[in-house]
Amino acid sequence: MTAFLLFFLMAAGLFTAPPLEYRESDPEDFPSGIPVLCYHHVSDPPVQYGVSTYRLSSDLQALYENGFYLITPRDIENRLMHVPAGKRPVMITFDDGWEDNYRFLPGTEQPDPSSALGIVQGFLEEHPDFGGGVTFFVSWDKVPFGRDSMEKFHSLMDMGHELGNHSLNHTSFRRLPPEGWKVQVNGSLNRFRPLLGLRADEVRAFAYPGGSIPRTGEVQTEMARMTWNGRPSATTAYIVDGMMTSFSRVYGNEFGLFAIGRIDMSLYSVAQLLQWRNLMVTGADRSNIRSPLQWRP
Ligand SMILES: [Zn+2]
Repeated sequence: MTAFLLFFLMAAGLFTAPPLEYRESDPEDFPSGIPVLCYHHVSDPPVQYGVSTYRLSSDLQALYENGFYLITPRDIENRLMHVPAGKRPVMITFDDGWEDNYRFLPGTEQPDPSSALGIVQGFLEEHPDFGGGVTFFVSWDKVPFGRDSMEKFHSLMDMGHELGNHSLNHTSFRRLPPEGWKVQVNGSLNRFRPLLGLRADEVRAFAYPGGSIPRTGEVQTEMARMTWNGRPSATTAYIVDGMMTSFSRVYGNEFGLFAIGRIDMSLYSVAQLLQWRNLMVTGADRSNIRSPLQWRP
């Protein structure tokens, strides 16, 4: 069916849009892809699902050299307003809250330069034009970052990084009835609350444990409606599907924000993602930060 005919039928009320369903990202989508990278452990030697410290450093370097700019879920919420002209957005996320993601130097409250946060901070100090920060998704089936969770939460937020919700006890949403989803999301926020106080309000991004959700679209619908203490429980939510979510997919309807694709970086390299055809192009020049992005749908 041609787009014109479809438009005509919709306008005439003869065709109703199909119900929301889970769709795989289309690699042929027009080039507005927003790569969201997912890391777990960062250690030497690397463990399963993990990468080495060298790998994280060299990924940061390769992204920087290829014109990327770090964004966090806050930037997805505000439609990438702060991404400078000529840069393309990339989000870096770390899942689970392992101690190798944020370790203090012994006897101090300074980040160990060989922990993920230390590596990122070191890189940002040398490359202040690389953007905002990275995101740590924490689940409560373990002590977040091994110990000193509260101090680490506040200090990473002070540095401009974002803290995200990775559920109460890391049970896959595929294995839970719908009533269980809210327990996982809001139960986790209840754990953040005493440690963060008012700042718990800044924990708005959710990463689905295990990275996948039922394909029915039901989870996205529930997430879009879910509230905690009078505010949305989450404003964006992330799966891990090895796909680059396009701008049109994220903003196309209210549910796109609740199944944003991520790329598991223990399986893919920056060199590979640079080959993907829906990767956002650079050089979209804007006269100032308020002029429209060329790749906006
Ligand atoms: Zn996880």
